[in-house]
Amino acid sequence: MVREDTSRTVPPVNPLRSLILAAARNGTIRRLVATAPVSRDVVRRFVAGETTADAVAVTRRLVDSGLTVTLDHLGEDTTDAALAEQTVQAYLELLDQLHAEGLSDRAEVSVKLSAVGQMFDEDLALANAKRICAAAEAAGTTVTLDMEDHTTTDSTLRILAELRRTWPWVGAVLQSYLHRTLDDVTALATSGSRVRLCKGAYKEPETVAFQDPIEVDKSYVRCANALLAGDGYPKFATHDPRLVRIIGERAEAHGRKPGSFEHQMLFGIRPDEQLRLAQLGHTVRVYVPYGGEWYGYLMRRMAERPANTAFFLRALASRS
Ligand SMILES: Cc1cc2nc3c(=O)[nH]c(=O)nc-3n(C[C@H](O)[C@H](O)[C@H](O)COP(=O)(O)OP(=O)(O)OC[C@H]3O[C@@H](n4cnc5c(N)ncnc54)[C@H](O)[C@@H]3O)c2cc1C
Repeated sequence: MVREDTSRTVPPVNPLRSLILAAARNGTIRRLVATAPVSRDVVRRFVAGETTADAVAVTRRLVDSGLTVTLDHLGEDTTDAALAEQTVQAYLELLDQLHAEGLSDRAEVSVKLSAVGQMFDEDLALANAKRICAAAEAAGTTVTLDMEDHTTTDSTLRILAELRRTWPWVGAVLQSYLHRTLDDVTALATSGSRVRLCKGAYKEPETVAFQDPIEVDKSYVRCANALLAGDGYPKFATHDPRLVRIIGERAEAHGRKPGSFEHQMLFGIRPDEQLRLAQLGHTVRVYVPYGGEWYGYLMRRMAERPANTAFFLRALASRS
């Protein structure tokens, strides 16, 4: 995932977290981890690999096990048009391959607008997003625009509205930690609208975002109710067992059948739960990141949860 702030609003439960986040910013450690042979194995738990072929192979495996997929080409903040163009080309190649492999009815793509130019030229980001949407349409699949920090929310929703004039299936992401989100959810809970609801992954100031995890969860439930009550297609992105259970209960209360909404989780996180939900008949979409820029993404997954860090350290120890 691009430009997630590495110091997201999680409670201070992981004593290694600051260390890992410092390592994420340290160039020497980055080079060491990125080139260590063991990293490859650990990376493979959370990242599909570096190439389009890797991404397609993992997609095939997930699809064969009954899951659906959304693919994210990893990249850091893109600050020039040439890098933005590389990202666009990566998506075009991926969409082509998904179509050629007969996977495009079960796999879509997630795009971060910052990776296609939003940071320095909103018009360029829109033009690039249009090219990706056109390729997705030709491949027979869809696109979801990831949401980044709050300074980009208005721009992302503007671009979404523009894209949806031609491709009404373009999906949005809304973050329950933002105070504004119930209003955004209400505006987007309309027929044909695909909305992913997540807690939010960036460190945001209290002027715009709830800081208390309980408030973030309560907001998640309010927003989930509004999405389920509306006419759109909600996509509930969370690994939180309590929220997954509440979503199930609220979906039933709103008369939502499996297939009229979906659960989403990250590749490598709670894979058994992903399969359990799918076996109950739910649509479960796995967010699969791939690409050369996996280091920052991996470090953020490590920092989020002690168990992930332990897994990484065990893998390192077993090779020493
Ligand atoms: C498909 C998907 C797409 C996303 N897209 C975006 C986006 O566009 N923009 C954005 O800002 N953020 C995005 N996110 C990230 C999201 O905002 C959260 O930062 C992230 O999902 C962590 O929040 P959580 O709801 O999973 O629960 P957390 O609050 O992190 O955890 C709650 C509980 O979930 C369980 N849990 C969490 N992680 C694990 C684990 N590794 N193993 C086992 N149990 C675990 C634990 O019981 C934990 O107590 C996305 C997340 C997903 C799943």
